[in-house]
Amino acid sequence: MRFDILTLFPEIFSGFLSESLLKQAQDNQQLEVHLHNFRNWTHDRHNTVDDRPFGGGPGMVIMPGPLIDCVEEVQTLTEPPAHILLTSPQGKPLKQIDIERFAQLPRIMIICGRYEGFDERISQILQPEEVSLGDFVLNGGEVAAMAIIEAVFRLLPGALGDQLSAVTDSFSFGDRLLEGPQYTRPREYRGLTVPEILLNGNHQAIDKWRLDEGLKRTIERRPDLITEEIQRKIDEANKPKRKRKARPKTDPDANA
Ligand code: SAM
Repeated sequence: MRFDILTLFPEIFSGFLSESLLKQAQDNQQLEVHLHNFRNWTHDRHNTVDDRPFGGGPGMVIMPGPLIDCVEEVQTLTEPPAHILLTSPQGKPLKQIDIERFAQLPRIMIICGRYEGFDERISQILQPEEVSLGDFVLNGGEVAAMAIIEAVFRLLPGALGDQLSAVTDSFSFGDRLLEGPQYTRPREYRGLTVPEILLNGNHQAIDKWRLDEGLKRTIERRPDLITEEIQRKIDEANKPKRKRKARPKTDPDANA
């Protein structure tokens, strides 16, 4: 999979890309991340990428010219053209289901803003998918781009030591609920013990406990994740079981 990142600060990515699993994936050519500084697409002697907002107001706005020239040239570097993501606090807040969709794509371009953000015509012309990390404001799109690369990368086949993690993680395609509590050694720490059920080796019972705990945690912390379908299943499971009527004992010889 290939990422093309358009940023004014490519150095921000150096530590992130040169450590741990992301580095390994690039060494194995499973992942390519290409950084493009769109300041290199300026034509004036000050390498200007931004200017004051028309109508007044604080800060500087990224101009359409250099950025769009950069996008268009980077798109021609290889096939297929990249799906374009533009980072913005005004974009759609990302969910795991979006990350799963991105992980199916061969190539993604992420545009990182700075300052007061982008001239509106950039979106009008490129028609990117505008994406947000959440309802808060960052200084730039680089942290958002790193979050997207990492979340997508861990869904690629073979990226994680144990592929099952990506299925059981919170929000993932198993049930889209939160994962339940987890424990490791020691069995007792400051008077707190590991639930007995996790120690008895009964994997069917452990799986059921984990599902129940995940559901309980989701109801407590993120009731918004409980869909109608999940609610129906909960109601079904909690329905009081009707006692079966004892069948009257019949004398097999009564009608004989
Ligand atoms: N003036 C803009 C607004 O109010 O919507 C905010 C601009 S912000 C200071 C500069 C850049 O940081 C944005 O263009 C975007 O690339 C990035 N950014 C800030 N918050 C973000 C978020 N929540 N998600 C994704 N990117 C964000």
